[in-house]
Amino acid sequence: MKSRIVLLGAPGSGKGTQAELITRHFAISVTSPGAILRRERDLGTPLGLEADEVSKQGGLVPDDIIVRLIEDWLNLHGKEGFVFDGFPRTVTQAERLNEILQKQASSLDLAIWLEVSEETVRDRIASRLQCRRCGFTTSVTSAGFAERPICPYCDGPLIRRNDDDASVLQTRLTEYKTKTEPLLSFYEKDDALHRIDGNRDRDTVFADISALIEERVK
Ligand SMILES: [Zn+2]
Repeated sequence: MKSRIVLLGAPGSGKGTQAELITRHFAISVTSPGAILRRERDLGTPLGLEADEVSKQGGLVPDDIIVRLIEDWLNLHGKEGFVFDGFPRTVTQAERLNEILQKQASSLDLAIWLEVSEETVRDRIASRLQCRRCGFTTSVTSAGFAERPICPYCDGPLIRRNDDDASVLQTRLTEYKTKTEPLLSFYEKDDALHRIDGNRDRDTVFADISALIEERVK
């Protein structure tokens, strides 16, 4: 199914999990700026190295670099639709995405907003484990991982994400509120925005998202 979707939500809202479910169920390619950046860096491309330099110095990769990476990715893989997890993060990025899609004579089908309470975010992040090798994320409450913290995909070690400690989380939440939440009204104007209650379990949330995709893309 050809569908162009952006998934929006606070850290811990379940975007990554839902993006994976969408990709498996509807065979739409999923990506995130983080995944693209890691790949570009591993390939040693000029943009990848530039971005790596910025993050090594502790900075956020600027809008401009993120948008160029996304545009390259869209030119290569975007023909059959996409799900973006964690992009756009700012109104500037969203405007640039619209321009890129216009150039390709297409437009966004859905902006899905996973709404979660701060309590949900804190609970989820406190129990999150990530594979140091491949980036797979899961929760300590998922079957068996607490006793044997080994990645089911690559046997790498599952560790608590070091960017999830309290002060970093606070910074990410503040940044989300000031920079990303304005996207709500941006996509509302376009009639692309759909809010979904992300406080529920992942299958219930996914059932709502599936229904939305099927209805919207018909
Ligand atoms: Zn792994």
